[in-house]
Amino acid sequence: MSYVDEVLELVKEKNASEPLFIQAVTEVFESLKPVIEANEALYRREAILERITEPERQIKFRVPWVDDNGQVRVNTGYRVQFNSAIGPYKGGLRLDKSVTLGMLKFLGFEQVFKNALTTLPMGGGKGGCDFDPKGKSDREIMAFCQSFMTELCKHIGADTDVPAGDLGTGGREIGYMFGQYKRLKNVYEGVLTGKGLTFGGSLARTEATGYGLLYFTKEMLACNGIDIAGKTAAVSGSGNVAIYAIQKAEQMGAKVVTCSDRKGWIYDPEGVDYKILKDIKEVKRTSLAEYVNYRPNAKYTAKAEGDNMDHGVWTVKVDLALPCGRENTIDLEDAKNLVANGVTAVAEGANMPTNLEATKYFQENGVLFAPGKASNAGGVATSGLEMSQNSERLSWSFEEVDAKLHDIMVSIFHAADDAAKKYGMEGNYVAGANIAGFEKVVNAMLAQGVC
Ligand code: NDP
Repeated sequence: MSYVDEVLELVKEKNASEPLFIQAVTEVFESLKPVIEANEALYRREAILERITEPERQIKFRVPWVDDNGQVRVNTGYRVQFNSAIGPYKGGLRLDKSVTLGMLKFLGFEQVFKNALTTLPMGGGKGGCDFDPKGKSDREIMAFCQSFMTELCKHIGADTDVPAGDLGTGGREIGYMFGQYKRLKNVYEGVLTGKGLTFGGSLARTEATGYGLLYFTKEMLACNGIDIAGKTAAVSGSGNVAIYAIQKAEQMGAKVVTCSDRKGWIYDPEGVDYKILKDIKEVKRTSLAEYVNYRPNAKYTAKAEGDNMDHGVWTVKVDLALPCGRENTIDLEDAKNLVANGVTAVAEGANMPTNLEATKYFQENGVLFAPGKASNAGGVATSGLEMSQNSERLSWSFEEVDAKLHDIMVSIFHAADDAAKKYGMEGNYVAGANIAGFEKVVNAMLAQGVC
């Protein structure tokens, strides 16, 4: 058995109850085969694959807090410090009732490669809690965040581990967590990114993932002789990534005709108005169903209770598909619908929104496919720029940060493209991104000895 297959078997055995983690490792390992095989004896002796799939540290803790009725509630908090070969651990905090250690291990593993691709000195980590912020009062959110940080603060720091936002963790939550960290540690440092602008946040961080997705997509299309202007696009999700992806697509002359949330999705033939979306989702914090009250020509379709997929979105005929909701929301059937409707490119705004079968189907059918670890790296790249500004005690202008973000996304595309070409897999950006990230991290690990 090859070294890759051997370790994949081991990972499956050791992490049998963590399907998302196994899915992420399988995808990465499949594309790394040519790289590993070219240097198998060294990697085997150094146990590189065993080390890269075993987090350096996993912290699990109790998060007790008191709700508005005086009732004590208890959640489970986690921080997975996956790999620090090229810098302090860096990665978001997910607050969602579906959060498990396996989910955070999948996200942390992906983050290691994504962060390496940005060219900034950041290791990979991820954290979160099975706390559901939906429907909680402001006071309850603050009580939870303070309790969560009371434990987390023992394990993080500006030069150790720098968490950020993710699903369910926005500016409000980061603010409460930062306040508690400062109070407990008596130190004012850039321990979190995604902070408010008055206390060390970076301009353009809010927009970064969505904008970065479009900078990447535009470059990928251009390098394949396609102009993004005039194209139609389907977006899923309607949160931070989706909103700014829609705005930037519009600025580039593309028209986004769909978006979705947990309960349903909309089709707006005139192009989704991101300002209305922002108001509904960020200010009113309500359901997408509201959208049709402002845009009578748009159509809202409710999802069946408990449906976690975005099937409806992917039945619309579009040139570009930009999944920006959450993991595993495009399956083989969706991929077939998109291909039958002539889709040209799929670029992931979310982390692993496309399952393995669907990814393969796109690639086999000539669709340009951008994996999230490359195309959604704009958020963490700008978090890295926020860390630089905090260390310098300076704030850069929006234009300065946006220009750096643009250059980083273009360079990520070329790193993935070049690595794919180097190993004879031209146009396979999944393999290219995995290889480019892997080579950087592994070189650092080998140089640092057995640790
Ligand atoms: P938000 O919490 O801001 O928004 C998530 C959106 O997805 C919400 O509109 C939510 O709906 C929707 N959603 C959740 N579950 C489903 C589902 N099953 N079907 C359809 N829609 C769903 O998160 P972000 O926009 O920040 O993150 C989105 C994705 O991008 C995640 O995978 C995240 O890990 C990834 N990502 C985010 C980065 C960032 O900088 N924000 C950086 C890199 C990756 P509802 O409104 O009903 O809750």
